Amino acid sequence: MILDGKKVRDELLDNYKEKIKNENLAIKLAIILVGDNEASKIYIRNKERACDYVGIVVEKYLLAADTSESELISLIEKLNDDPSVTGIILQSPVPSHIDFDKCSGLINSRKDVDGFTAYNIYNLYLGHDTILPCTVKGIIKLIEYYNIPIAGANVVIVGRGNIVGHPLSLALLNMDATVTVAHSKTKNLANLTKNADILISATGHPHLIKKDMVKDGAVVIDVGVSRVDGHILGDVDFEFVKEIAYAITPNPGGVGPMTVAMIIDNLLMMKGRENNG
Ligand code: NAP
Repeated sequence: MILDGKKVRDELLDNYKEKIKNENLAIKLAIILVGDNEASKIYIRNKERACDYVGIVVEKYLLAADTSESELISLIEKLNDDPSVTGIILQSPVPSHIDFDKCSGLINSRKDVDGFTAYNIYNLYLGHDTILPCTVKGIIKLIEYYNIPIAGANVVIVGRGNIVGHPLSLALLNMDATVTVAHSKTKNLANLTKNADILISATGHPHLIKKDMVKDGAVVIDVGVSRVDGHILGDVDFEFVKEIAYAITPNPGGVGPMTVAMIIDNLLMMKGRENNG
């Protein structure tokens, strides 16, 4: 079975659009880009397109690459204080003279669309209701859409990055999965991955996961994105792994579209909290 992220995204966007229209919700997303990163521009375009579709206003702040950290912080503070702004995204990466963690950490946690601020991560750690990072939430929504049980499943996550692997391990643990996290220093990776009911790879190492590393009948989720000779490759050797997997994400077309949909999901959650005080 193919876990079709595009199809699920389209269904979700239609639901969000209807909700925004029926409830007459005024939602505004502020996106800040510092510098000229080409990949970032594509990601921003995808976010804008989804927001336009559902009826969310996007305000873009395209700052020159030599913008100082203090200028960026002033803008974040201004947007934090602006009641018309529902959510804020600081697009990563930023130029090297800017500390991304420090600046994104200054976003008001109630407007933290990416779920990266200390308050939201702490709530994730505590197992409380929180704004989840969009890729983490997208992966969970995709698994749930296809009625794949998470509680009790042996989940192996390859990659412990701050955007995907690490927060995903906490979120799935909170959902009663048994979670193992592997990384670049892990010995005998295949011994772990072969035990996974659900195998999630988020490394950016192209075709790291081969057929002989996957259990027959496993669910395989490919998060990785690598650009090799102008082609986008995932972490999973899809053509071969699909022969033995029960379910697998295409890449592209799996996790990426879900990540974009979850931006809208998080904005709706924030709007709901705003309206409820
Ligand atoms: P990251 O912070 O660079 O983390 C990568 C992780 O992979 C690290 O923990 C690293 O181990 C591990 N790793 C690298 N090579 C490995 C190997 N050969 N064997 C085992 N582990 C290995 O990256 P990230 O931000 O979490 O993102 C991970 C990937 O997901 C990237 O390709 C990124 O582009 C993609 N991504 C996709 C989406 C989407 O929507 N589709 C969203 C976000 C990210 P160490 O910790 O030991 O170095």
